[in-house]
Amino acid sequence: MVDTKTQETVREGAIYGQITALGHEQLVICYDEPTGLKAIIGIHNTVLGPALGGTRMWNYASEEEAITDVLRLSRGMTFKAAISGLNLGGGKAVIIGDPKLKSEAFLRRFGRFVQSLGGKYITAEDVNMGTQDMEYIAMETKHVTGLPDVKGGGGDPSPVTAYGTYLGMKAAAKKAYGTDSLQGKKVAVQGIGQVGKYLVNHLIKEGAEVFITDIFEDKLQVVAKDTGATVVDPKFIYDIDMDIYAPCALGATVNDETIDRLKCQVIAGAANNQLKDEEKHGKLLLEKGIIYAPDFLINAGGLINVYAEYLGGYNRDLAYQQADKIYDTCISILDKSEKENIPAQQAAIEMAWNRIQAMGKVKLSH
Ligand code: NAD
Repeated sequence: MVDTKTQETVREGAIYGQITALGHEQLVICYDEPTGLKAIIGIHNTVLGPALGGTRMWNYASEEEAITDVLRLSRGMTFKAAISGLNLGGGKAVIIGDPKLKSEAFLRRFGRFVQSLGGKYITAEDVNMGTQDMEYIAMETKHVTGLPDVKGGGGDPSPVTAYGTYLGMKAAAKKAYGTDSLQGKKVAVQGIGQVGKYLVNHLIKEGAEVFITDIFEDKLQVVAKDTGATVVDPKFIYDIDMDIYAPCALGATVNDETIDRLKCQVIAGAANNQLKDEEKHGKLLLEKGIIYAPDFLINAGGLINVYAEYLGGYNRDLAYQQADKIYDTCISILDKSEKENIPAQQAAIEMAWNRIQAMGKVKLSH
C-alpha cells in the first residue's frame, strides 16, 4: 500500500522541490567525521558527458544556502558545456566551512568521494580551491582537472577565459555597430583580477579606450601604469560615458538600479550570473536595445581549458582553438535573439537545450 502522507511530504520537501524545479539528476551529500569534511556534489545533467565543474569552498551560513548554491552552479555548468560544444555534462561541488580547515587528509577524503562516483563527476578549482588542492585530490581520484602545468595540467585558465570574453565582446560589437573592431570604443572593465587584467591587454592592443575599476587601488595603479587605461572610482563605473560595459568582478551587477544608469550599447564580461534576475533583466536589456553577450558562453574559456586537460595530454593550442568558436556561437545567439525578439540569455539557454536533446537522441539510437 502506498503511504500517501509520506509521498506528499517527499513531493513537497525543500530538496526534492529544488531538484525537480532545476532538473538535477543527483545530489550527493558527503560527510567524514575524522577530518570534518562536509561536501555536497551536484550533478545536473550527464547527457553530453560526465559532469565537470569546480569545487568551491565557502563558509556558508546554512546548509540550505550551500545546497541552493551547488544546484544553481551545477545547472549553469550544463548550459556552459552544451553551448560551447563540449562533450561534458554539468556538475559542481561545494565544501562547507572555513578554507583554513583544508589539509592533505581533508582534501584526499574529498578526492575519495569524487572517486566513488566512478567518473560521473569530474572536479576542478573554484573559489578558495587552487591547483595545490587539486594535486591532493588527484592522489585519490583520476577524475580531477585543473592541475598545475608542471604536472601536465592546464594551469591558470584565466588567459583562455579572457580571450573568450574578448571574442564574445567583438561578436556583440559586430551586432551593435556592424563591425567587430573595438578600436576607439570606450570599454569599462569592472574588476581587474585574473581575467580582467588579461582582457584589458587584448582591448588596449586593439586600440580601445579602456576604463578600469577595482576595490583595490594598488592593483588599479599597476594596470593603469602598464597599459595606459584610465582609473575610475568603483562607485561611478555605471555612470561613465562608455560604449561597452565588461563586468569581470561580481555577479548580479545588471539589475534594476544599474540598468537605468548604464548608457552603453553592449554588455560583455567574464563574471558569472551577471543578470540579477535572468528573465526580468534579460528582457529589460532587450527593450533598451542593449546587446548582451551571454555570460556563460563568453566566459567558458576556463571550462574549455580544463576540458582540453581532461581529453589527455593538455594542449594549450587546442584550448585556444576551441575558444575561437565563442565568436561564431555568440553571433548565432544574437541573431536568434534578434529574429525571435527574445533576450540573448534565453536564446543561449534554448540553443544549449536543443544540443542536449539532439545528442540525447543520438545516444539512444541503435
Ligand atoms: P579575481 O578574484 O581574480 O578578480 C576579481 C576582481 O574583482 C578582483 O580584483 C576584485 O578586487 C575585484 N572586485 C571585487 N569586487 C569589486 C567591486 N565591487 N567593484 C570592482 N571590482 C571588484 O577573479 P577572476 O578569476 O578574475 O574572475 C572574475 C569573474 O569571472 C568572476 O565572477 C569569476 O567567477 C568569473 N570567471 C572566471 C573564470 C576564470 O577562468 N578565472 C572563468 C569563468 C568565470
